[in-house]
Amino acid sequence: MNELTISVRGAWQGEVMDPETALRLAQEAGDLREFDRVTLQLIGQVPDPSDELYRIIARTAAEQGRPPLLAAVLPPEGNFFSWAEELASLGYKLSLTGDFRSLPELRRAADLLRSLGIGPEIRLDPGDYRGADGKEVYSQLLSCRPERLFFVPGGDPEAFGAFILRVLEQWLPMWSRGEGPEVMNITDFRRRGALLPACDCAMGPYCQTQLALDRDGMAYNCVRTAEPGRQLGHFPAMSLRSILTSFARVGFLMNDCAVTKECRACTLLPICGGGCPAERQEGRSRYCREATLFITRFYRPLSWGTRLREMALGGSDTLAGCEYC
Ligand code: SF4
Ligand code: SF4
Repeated sequence: MNELTISVRGAWQGEVMDPETALRLAQEAGDLREFDRVTLQLIGQVPDPSDELYRIIARTAAEQGRPPLLAAVLPPEGNFFSWAEELASLGYKLSLTGDFRSLPELRRAADLLRSLGIGPEIRLDPGDYRGADGKEVYSQLLSCRPERLFFVPGGDPEAFGAFILRVLEQWLPMWSRGEGPEVMNITDFRRRGALLPACDCAMGPYCQTQLALDRDGMAYNCVRTAEPGRQLGHFPAMSLRSILTSFARVGFLMNDCAVTKECRACTLLPICGGGCPAERQEGRSRYCREATLFITRFYRPLSWGTRLREMALGGSDTLAGCEYC
């Protein structure tokens, strides 16, 4: 499926996009008919209700013949608790973001979402995983009864690796009993092994499905590449379509996102995907070692492992050339 997610950082830290730009954005997103599905995803705090950003986008989307899907990724703070119900009634798919220090608030927010009939999805924002025990954090997250978890890689790769492996040690026995939440980091490896696009990013590229805008309309390929020197253009001075087909974006997809020669030589490439291009070091993902451990340690025991391994490695049962298995 040809999909596009436009992440708007307009609500980031309480800052909001001006209503006129928000209106244009919702209209143009609905007009991108070359995509089977367009999602407008607002990231950050719920703004002051008087700013109306969420309502403007929802109203414009509803007026269109083919509205974009609406999503909001929110921390459980600010006026989230007073606004969640209204956002859900406006048609927003809500997910939570927070770090492991905000677990009590995440739990409260997850309870609220559940009471609204929304299965909680929690994206654990890393900051830095240093010092956090994956076993402890995972068991506390279970008390939020999430439907889906995603551990966004970040900070020191060693610390992230140690953290996520502890998480997976806890998750695996539950998964084999048919219990526990879906962990998107694993789902993405599994999907890629089955030649399907990843559901999330940061563990592997699906950059052609992403676009990010700052509240001032500056466009980047994605939230992770939103930094000086990586601008693709300015919205609404440029239309969404012209930003998507711009030389800068096509160049990013063709050059930065191309699989490197180091990854092409790796037997795990069909499953790993080579990682996020914004997080590469010396031709490999910053999390190359963690991805390798992930795949080799957790692939083998999973029931889908054999089939995917056969698909990925041409029937070989040994991960030849892998220094970790
Ligand atoms: S650069 Fe990384 S974070 Fe951005 S879309 Fe590509 S894989 Fe995802
Ligand atoms: S495991 Fe490392 S070398 Fe192999 S594809 Fe992934 S990032 Fe590239």
